[in-house]
Amino acid sequence: MRYFYIAALAVVFVILIVIYKENSLLTDSTKEENKEMLLSDYLSTDDEKMKNKNGDLDSAPIKNSIDKGKQSQEDFAKDKPWESYTEEQLDDVLLLVNKERDLPKDYVPSDLVDPNVPFPFIEELAQRLMRQEAATALEDLFEKANDENLNLYAQSGYRSYERQESIFAYYVERSGEEKASRVSANAGHSEHQTGLAMDVTTPEVNFQLVTSFEDTPEGQWIKENAAQFGFIIRYPKDKEKITGYQYEPWHLRFVGKEPAKVIHEQGLTLEEYLGFE
Ligand SMILES: [Zn+2]
Repeated sequence: MRYFYIAALAVVFVILIVIYKENSLLTDSTKEENKEMLLSDYLSTDDEKMKNKNGDLDSAPIKNSIDKGKQSQEDFAKDKPWESYTEEQLDDVLLLVNKERDLPKDYVPSDLVDPNVPFPFIEELAQRLMRQEAATALEDLFEKANDENLNLYAQSGYRSYERQESIFAYYVERSGEEKASRVSANAGHSEHQTGLAMDVTTPEVNFQLVTSFEDTPEGQWIKENAAQFGFIIRYPKDKEKITGYQYEPWHLRFVGKEPAKVIHEQGLTLEEYLGFE
């Protein structure tokens, strides 16, 4: 009889182990699926933006974006002095990154942190990250928005050089190199690599990065109040010729409170503020 109990216990034990293993396998594969889903969501959001010609991934092709009459920025670009920038210069919160001015492949901000603000996903992805100073300012902004009963979410912050490359490769695979270069960023040219940019959104636009964000209470509030916290709408309406990008009411760039105030009050772009129009 004693052997029977021992055998029964052993069987129960084995069954428990099998159940446990199956569960953990299930959890792992579910996690993988979620990650896949997130990536494809992310990319399909970009597809939407491509359709709207209103991309956040440097995707909006704007022909003749630079006025050939005043070329100071392009002339300046010929020398590319920023290619020999020191780390300190690259870490300047007023650093200009755009279609002419890129960041080195190996530039990764040294003070990236995960801001305590809501994201529409739970995974610990690098796109949560921002530089310390910008992250603190973002937390303040979100706290105020929350006080005003707004439903604001952060969607995409830091984007590594490698990630920019893989997004570009995705477009190449899907549409060929020529089309890819028209709809996606060349690696190093995304402002998200600075760790100073964050795309924000709201459930009302299904967490997408779309121009209609402007019409939501959250979008309206951001437009009026982001500067108080040191952020600017980096790609304002009707400034495409200067920034090279169509209107992106969701793309916030940290520049510090004083510059943000001037840029907001005078209706400038970062290029104009820095004298590179
Ligand atoms: Zn953005």
